[in-house]
Amino acid sequence: MSELFDRLKEAVGPAGFIAGDDVGPRYFTDVADKLGPKPSLVLRPASTVEVSEILTLCHAAGQPLVPQGGMTGLVGAGLPAEGEVVLSLERLNAIEEIDTESSTMTVGAGTVLQTIQEQAGAKGFSFPLDLGARGSCTIGGNLSTNAGGNRVIRYGMARDLVLGLEAVLADGSVVGNLNKLIKNNTGYDLRQLFIGSEGTLGIITRVTLRLYPKPASQTVALCGLDDFAQVIRFLRHMQNAFSGGISAFEVMWQSYFAEARKVTGRHSPFADPHPFYALTEVLGGSPERDQEAFESALASAFDAGLINDAVVAKSLAEVNELWQLRDASSEVTRNLAPVLGYDVSIPVSRMVAFAEVLTASIDELHPGNKTVIFGHVGDGNLHVTTTAGAADPEQSKAVNSLVYKLTGANHGSISAEHGIGIVKRPYLSYSRSDNDIALMRTLKTALDPKGILSPGRIFEV
Ligand SMILES: Cc1cc2nc3c(=O)[nH]c(=O)nc-3n(C[C@H](O)[C@H](O)[C@H](O)COP(=O)(O)OP(=O)(O)OC[C@H]3O[C@@H](n4cnc5c(N)ncnc54)[C@H](O)[C@@H]3O)c2cc1C
Repeated sequence: MSELFDRLKEAVGPAGFIAGDDVGPRYFTDVADKLGPKPSLVLRPASTVEVSEILTLCHAAGQPLVPQGGMTGLVGAGLPAEGEVVLSLERLNAIEEIDTESSTMTVGAGTVLQTIQEQAGAKGFSFPLDLGARGSCTIGGNLSTNAGGNRVIRYGMARDLVLGLEAVLADGSVVGNLNKLIKNNTGYDLRQLFIGSEGTLGIITRVTLRLYPKPASQTVALCGLDDFAQVIRFLRHMQNAFSGGISAFEVMWQSYFAEARKVTGRHSPFADPHPFYALTEVLGGSPERDQEAFESALASAFDAGLINDAVVAKSLAEVNELWQLRDASSEVTRNLAPVLGYDVSIPVSRMVAFAEVLTASIDELHPGNKTVIFGHVGDGNLHVTTTAGAADPEQSKAVNSLVYKLTGANHGSISAEHGIGIVKRPYLSYSRSDNDIALMRTLKTALDPKGILSPGRIFEV
């Protein structure tokens, strides 16, 4: 073993050091079953001090490393590249404090999102970040990718839910703090450097999160609609009815809905199929009053011709059944595999034209393909999954270029919530200008001059 590895072992102790044949596949396989090369070393620090010691040693030796949370990221950024050491944050998973007066929770970066949600719930609070990977993803990974999820329309992205953040720079210095203040304009907001930077600028070690009151009611309906203009008008109607308080507005195109029914084994609650299905949710404080207001908003939408049909959940079990259709996206993807998946943002006003041109162009290139579309339409975020060209790398590239060019032409973003990582790196310029990318490179070089942190993710330096 090299001298560097000996010193790293001293820094983290035997429980934090896995080398050679002992390195299991979970450290080089991600949730999409993509494989990286097997790393020769995995480090599992249990404190900020240990992370700092690791980085000091790796920086001095020019040893590249890649941080890992739950490995549920979908752009290949957490997979080790040849010669990289894995830095797993899984042992930094303490719930350090729940401050019920300040409505904050301080946790280690390796804490699993669902644990945070449950611990907040047990104290009468809600941590509203929510995504399908909640049982495996970690808050460090959520922040490094600036995760979105189902409730962005009301609570914002992961970056909006963090008050304090501690990180370790490439040279081992510890920066940031566990601030509990909502208002704090004391110069540059350093938190934001690390949020969404996919492990390239520093290692997030601990964070202080913003908690919200736990909702007493959850009203949910699934509505059938004829066209996208109706979808948009219905969204505005619901936002007006609840003063902007809609907590989810998820739209499934018929193509997705049919596949979701297949994989979940659920019958459609409607007698006739609809071109669009909108799952809409309001969280509130008074179960009876909220249900009444929700049903009355749906009734007036129906009277105004904004929706064609609706089913309203009457119990928690029915809420979960309706959400199950929208949450079945991973199963749909697995069932259609091999597929190409896209996570794009498009201004809502251009969304329907985008989807129509996109499906027509894909059909022209690959007749007989299956393409399904769904998304967080209230946030302008669409997920597109297609079988077109997926089995062939050259054809995949052609479909990627088609989708991302069309996204750029519609003033959209080639990554709404999953990040750039390795997978989307060749297409970054469709959404960011040359000057933007040059500034990102300047920041990277200033914070990590030896390029040891997740080299090659987002862009090549
Ligand atoms: C079923 C399913 C549903 C999903 N739904 C959504 C969704 O709705 N919205 C959404 O945004 N994403 C979604 N995702 C993607 C994924 O869950 C998120 O990207 C998540 O935030 C990743 O967290 P993780 O802990 O698994 O991170 P990882 O995959 O381990 O890592 C992701 C990135 O963060 C870096 N990283 C990890 N921890 C740290 C740290 N402590 N410091 C610095 N860098 C770090 C890694 O190097 C990598 O670049 C979904 C994934 C699945 C499988």
